[in-house]
Amino acid sequence: MSTETLAQIVATVGKEIADAHRGEGKVADYIPALARVDANRFGLAVITCDGQMAEYGDAWLPFSIQSISKVFTLTMALQRMGESLWVRVGREPSGSRFNSIVQLEAEGGVPRNPFINAGAIVVTDAVLAGRTPGEAVDDIRDTLRRLAGADTIDVDKEVATSEAATGYRNYSLANFMKGFDNLHSPVEDVLQTYFHQCSLRITCRQLARAGLFLANEGVDPLTGEVVISPEHARRINAIMMTCGHYDASGEFAFQVGLPGKSGVGGGILTIVPDVAAVAVWSPGLNAVGNSQVGTLALERLAARMRWSVF
Ligand code: GLU
Repeated sequence: MSTETLAQIVATVGKEIADAHRGEGKVADYIPALARVDANRFGLAVITCDGQMAEYGDAWLPFSIQSISKVFTLTMALQRMGESLWVRVGREPSGSRFNSIVQLEAEGGVPRNPFINAGAIVVTDAVLAGRTPGEAVDDIRDTLRRLAGADTIDVDKEVATSEAATGYRNYSLANFMKGFDNLHSPVEDVLQTYFHQCSLRITCRQLARAGLFLANEGVDPLTGEVVISPEHARRINAIMMTCGHYDASGEFAFQVGLPGKSGVGGGILTIVPDVAAVAVWSPGLNAVGNSQVGTLALERLAARMRWSVF
């Protein structure tokens, strides 16, 4: 794959999708700071394991990482706890909404997987263990900065405050799990950490760069840093594939065929094992809560590049 070919394909796919679909979908409006994001934004960035970078559109503009942060906290929790994490959270698609509480009751307070909110809150509890929320948030932010090679990544305080003010369901989930003894730190500390991790702002370029270790068996191919073991990297990819797109994870696997994680800020991180990491951002969401135009861009890019794990 020459630099020119990748750059040309990314530019062509980006332009085709932007021209035909820009602005589609519904921007998340549960908090004001997300509701006022311009629906017409569209960015796409690809970075390959051999260091080529290709991009289109608003790949330099920061957006709210939201649930994509769960990939990085899962990585950190596995670094800290190893396999014992799986006693506290499963790895099965839920078939329920991302913030559903019904399964938790039947399943003894052990969430189905690390990407539904309940599971992500347990993962955050593991990242927080033995520290203050401030220390844990700094660690999450600094991990992203290091992986992305970008010290501009930071928490949007307004988003974090609004998440906390409106996070009734997350408080319910956390209290419910605390009742089952599946949260170790105080609920307020876990949720403050969780709300802050979701409120980090990142660009497509930075996000693709930060996720690149997942395309290379846990080792950052450009710095040589061993971020996580190959076994854990494989499992994170497996969970992204099966659980990364809320209730449309099967559809994403069917259409794109790659591990991916979306967030309600309109971003999607996608991994092409052994080849590249891709980040796309378009704030308008489809009915399931995934970036509508971002998903279309990934479908077309994967088809054009013949990227698929299948
Ligand atoms: N902050 C959001 C929540 O926990 C994350 C939503 C998302 O991106 O799925 O409700």
